[in-house]
Amino acid sequence: MHRLLKRQLDKAGFEPGKIEEMKVFLEQISHAYQSFEQDYGHLEHVLEQSSKELFTANQSLKNKVKTVEGKLSKVATNIRDIIFEMDVEGRWTYLNSAWERMSGHTVEASLGNKYYEYLPKEVTEPFRKKVVSTKGVFKLHRASFQYTKPDGEVIWLDVSIKPIIGATDKIEGFIGSISDITELKHTEEKLIQANKAKDQFLSVMSHEIRTPLNAVIGVSNLLLMEDPKPSQMENLDVLGYSSKHLLALVNDILDYNKIVSGSLVMEQDEFSLVDTLHAQKQMFQQRASTKGLKIEIDLAENVPKTVVGDTHRLSQILTNLLGNAIKFTKKGFVKLEVSLKEKGNNINLIQFKVIDTGVGIPKNKLKKIFEPFAQASSKTTRLYGGTGLGLAISKNLVELMGSTLACESKPGKGSTFTFTVPFESPGVQSQSRILCELPLPNKPEYSSLNGMTILVVEDNKINATILNKFLSKWGVRCEVAENGLVGFEMSVKKKYDLIFMDIEMPIMNGYQSTLAIRETKKNPNHATPIIALTASTGDKTGYELSKCGMDGLIPKPFDPKELFVAIESSINATGQTNTIHAS
Ligand code: ADP
Repeated sequence: MHRLLKRQLDKAGFEPGKIEEMKVFLEQISHAYQSFEQDYGHLEHVLEQSSKELFTANQSLKNKVKTVEGKLSKVATNIRDIIFEMDVEGRWTYLNSAWERMSGHTVEASLGNKYYEYLPKEVTEPFRKKVVSTKGVFKLHRASFQYTKPDGEVIWLDVSIKPIIGATDKIEGFIGSISDITELKHTEEKLIQANKAKDQFLSVMSHEIRTPLNAVIGVSNLLLMEDPKPSQMENLDVLGYSSKHLLALVNDILDYNKIVSGSLVMEQDEFSLVDTLHAQKQMFQQRASTKGLKIEIDLAENVPKTVVGDTHRLSQILTNLLGNAIKFTKKGFVKLEVSLKEKGNNINLIQFKVIDTGVGIPKNKLKKIFEPFAQASSKTTRLYGGTGLGLAISKNLVELMGSTLACESKPGKGSTFTFTVPFESPGVQSQSRILCELPLPNKPEYSSLNGMTILVVEDNKINATILNKFLSKWGVRCEVAENGLVGFEMSVKKKYDLIFMDIEMPIMNGYQSTLAIRETKKNPNHATPIIALTASTGDKTGYELSKCGMDGLIPKPFDPKELFVAIESSINATGQTNTIHAS
């Protein structure tokens, strides 16, 4: 019998007779006691085994954590960037050793201090505002700033801060890193300087190239006016073609550089779409009819006739597309279709399509032709001329206007270039004097300028001489001032019919001289038309020229017809025709 059962029966005081009576029953109980004892022993053994295994697993986990911690701390210690942690109040709770190298403060002395004691206001203020406005739940806060170390060294740092969100979605603090970007900043500054130097170089070079080009084109135009022999005519044509090609290249490179450097600003002025399209037709009419081509401009009835935008840049795009269309078409027509794609309260979407029946462009070249200096074929320059920059410029200009320039073409059938530009509707009529586009007359009556006196303010002697030669051929008396100051002094003493004003001049430039002439009513030339005559395209727009009191702009080298029309139109516009003796 099991010892426990025996003890319990003894304790209970059962008589032996009674025990004998219950023998079978008690044997069963004793058996149950024994089985229980065996199970209990087994359970104890299993428990002991499990606790041993648990202990080993725990030990290995602890070792692993230690290894990871060691690795992390090695990384944190050796990393170049600062790694930090701060509590919700903004106190540093962790800083790696890069902190000492970069900030110049020890980790020990800094822990527990607040971040704004170390970082400048331009970083801490926006960060604080972000924390307040988002209640600390934001993705990332980044800022670059200049930092002066305690020893006076100035470096550039870039900080990134992220909130630490706890299990209950509550902010538990912030974690982040700070990198030294001093070298990057210096490289960036050097790049900006280099870019400025390139712009400056291009601007100076263009002025330097355009000035002698002005002389070449001017002199060949003068020679053309002197009835040259047919053999000389051929040479003059070559001279004219080459100098004009060179001029187009200089202008294109300047324009392209201006666009890609992001310094081109689109004007927002009210202009007549009808006049702009009319000017295009006039410009290309003769070229098209010499080639036996029909040129058509189709302006849909519902297109607003006056819009707000950059007429100069729109004209530049259309001139390039129409010029190409005529250049690459032998037979058929060139058409400009202008239609209204969408009418809004304030904005109208106007579509321009330049269609030709020319040589077309192979499918595999349709993308390439929009790249700078790219032409559809290597024979293009030899056969048709061109710089390969026109479409790259047009594409960029169209994109600056918020659209894209697309081309569909079939070799041998023709091409269609399309762009759709949003134009604002005109609001209050602008009060500023906008420089007018000067329409070219079919047959200029050069003698109509006979007897006029013009002041030419120009520092370049060759330019002044060429201008003088043209003007004297038309019977115009020309007086020359070698800079803006002399020009102003001459303007005080005598009334002129017109003033031609160079822009870039020593002592006093064209803007200052014009402002000085316009300043007092006592000046006899207070209201005399002043036309800017300049070789530099620069950033000065027609609007800016008109702001300082100029009435027009003739780019050098000038076309004699354009020069003549500028003189005639500006005199007519100010009603000073009384000084002109018609022949
Ligand atoms: P350029 O006309 O000075 O060569 P562009 O950039 O204006 O430069 O044009 C690039 C090239 O695209 C041209 O050389 C020509 O091969 C092709 N191209 C442009 N317009 C047309 C057109 N209307 N028809 C056929 N080819 C064209």
